[in-house]
Amino acid sequence: MLEAQPIRRDDQAMTQIDYEKAGALIGIEVHQQLNTKTKLFCNCPTEIREDDPHFTFLRRLRPTQSELGEVDPAALFEFQKGRVHIYQNYDDSICLVEQDEEPPHLLDEEAVNHALEISLLMKSQPVDEIQVMRKLVIDGSNTTGFQRSVVVAFGGEIDVNGFKVPIQTIGVEEDAARKIQEKGTKTYWRLDRLGIPLIEVATAPVMKTPEQVQATALRIGQIFRVTGKVKRGLGTIRQDINVSVKGGAIIEIKGVQQLNLIGQVVQYEVQRQVELLKLRDELKNRGVRSGQIKQVVHDVSKLFQKSTSKVIKASLKRKEGVYALVLPGFAGLVGKEVQPGRRVGSEFADYAKFWGDVQGLFHTDELPNYGIIADEVNKLRRHLKAQDADAIIIVAASKSASTDALKAVALRAQQALKGIPAETRGPLADGTTRYSRPRPGAARMYPETDVAPITVTKKRLKRIRQGLPELPEEKLQKFHEEYHLSDELANIMIRSLRIDLFEDIIKKHPKLAVTAASTLETSWRNLEREEIKVDDIPEEQVLLLFDRLAEEKFAKEAIEDLLTWLAQHPTQTVDKAIQDLGLGVISKDELKSIIEQIVEANAVMVAERGDRAIGPLMGLVMKEVRGRADGKLVSELLRSAVKAQQQS
Ligand SMILES: [Zn+2]
Repeated sequence: MLEAQPIRRDDQAMTQIDYEKAGALIGIEVHQQLNTKTKLFCNCPTEIREDDPHFTFLRRLRPTQSELGEVDPAALFEFQKGRVHIYQNYDDSICLVEQDEEPPHLLDEEAVNHALEISLLMKSQPVDEIQVMRKLVIDGSNTTGFQRSVVVAFGGEIDVNGFKVPIQTIGVEEDAARKIQEKGTKTYWRLDRLGIPLIEVATAPVMKTPEQVQATALRIGQIFRVTGKVKRGLGTIRQDINVSVKGGAIIEIKGVQQLNLIGQVVQYEVQRQVELLKLRDELKNRGVRSGQIKQVVHDVSKLFQKSTSKVIKASLKRKEGVYALVLPGFAGLVGKEVQPGRRVGSEFADYAKFWGDVQGLFHTDELPNYGIIADEVNKLRRHLKAQDADAIIIVAASKSASTDALKAVALRAQQALKGIPAETRGPLADGTTRYSRPRPGAARMYPETDVAPITVTKKRLKRIRQGLPELPEEKLQKFHEEYHLSDELANIMIRSLRIDLFEDIIKKHPKLAVTAASTLETSWRNLEREEIKVDDIPEEQVLLLFDRLAEEKFAKEAIEDLLTWLAQHPTQTVDKAIQDLGLGVISKDELKSIIEQIVEANAVMVAERGDRAIGPLMGLVMKEVRGRADGKLVSELLRSAVKAQQQS
């Protein structure tokens, strides 16, 4: 269910976060794929494909000298390491535009209309002229080396349970190519996703708690869905979250896919930032100065020749080495937790892995352990003339990788004295985050001269305004009054992830509205609790299920059995399910005869109990015909059969 759920606060440290005191300020950018027929700059379909690609080609993205200053330093670093990008294609659904062999076509009008519609719903002011812009992106996610986007509207606001959240901009951008895998210096991308239009709504950074952020994201998603013009399902939606606390820097968490994870991500990120500020204060208390942290990497291989550590043994066997870095005054702080299960040492390890391409690191706060013994740690301290107050970081890898890794750790340790480094981070499955790259400066946008601007005429806006969909609150009233959903069910449905599907069903079968709502929510959740993957059932089969129900091909008591079967056979049809489960509805005559047989077999009970026999008999009949006959009809026929039996 898609209600703003209370955020889990089971962790000890969590309960201590005072968001007001921390001065947390959070903004979000919600992206969702628009359900257009064609891509943003060409006529290719907006389809994701899982069959084998037809051909591939290879590119190295090369920023020119003048662009170097504006390129994301992390992307530049990757480029300098000689990263090669391999793009996977399909003959019949990808054209020369995605391959960057042909200039982009006109901006897709359908995508622009959808974005204008969403802008009007959010009281945002559409621009007079839509100008396509380019932003340099050399991470390989785009064959051209830049991403194209347009701003469609500025300003506006949305109401989130009475809290007004200002909107900064609404725009459309092209989705990136899909990363399939990374192998050494090669990255494989699939071009099916490249160019699918994404609506992008950015809020002002005004939210102060995880609950507000979660509720705002849900509200934006709801408004997207009422237009019926966004794609559905996992992978179609993506949110970026900006989080800062008082005295810190802005951290951008990119690519959170699950709506329900947002609150958790915010909570953990605020915790991390608060902990990093405490770390800074503690380092200051200890009198640690930035100049003491030197990027000096020591070869300590000879101290570990007899080590029983698997990682170290493997490195030495590969003729690599063991390298160390001293962090003055850091003893006891590297092992400090900043998020559940993640320590200051994890922050260091992220930098080491990214900039040094090593597997991981050891630090003295966690040693002796992992096969490294106390004697080795003592020797290491003596050899490096490290004090008890100092921490030592160890990496076992090649000399160049270790040097890059440990220098990056030294830089990160220097940043710890300032507080919170500005970073782009990626979400992990439990809501904690990992460093993904330094936060690029405000990227310069260039006008895209290959695509003509579009004028937004008054006439066009008027037409869109006339066709605006109902807002969630209006739908709520309609579900309640026209479709007779109870208040509770209507409220659940309006927040449901399956509201579009629900509306598709009731458009065809208004009389099945209540059944459809309780199927898509109550039954859905029941089955999910039993770990039945109902979300795997193709939507067209769910629609067909209601067609067949309307045709009385089965009785509604069988819906959960059918959904279970379909979830287990996601490539099969409802008709096959009905057949396989033996659910074909019994004809009235056949039902009558089954009932008469049961009544006759229980003639003694009928004679003794009279009408009070109906209850137990009903149970017997339903056991026989469940899912194949309507309960009400069974009850009627049973009553007359009992009556006939009594009179005979
Ligand atoms: Zn194309």
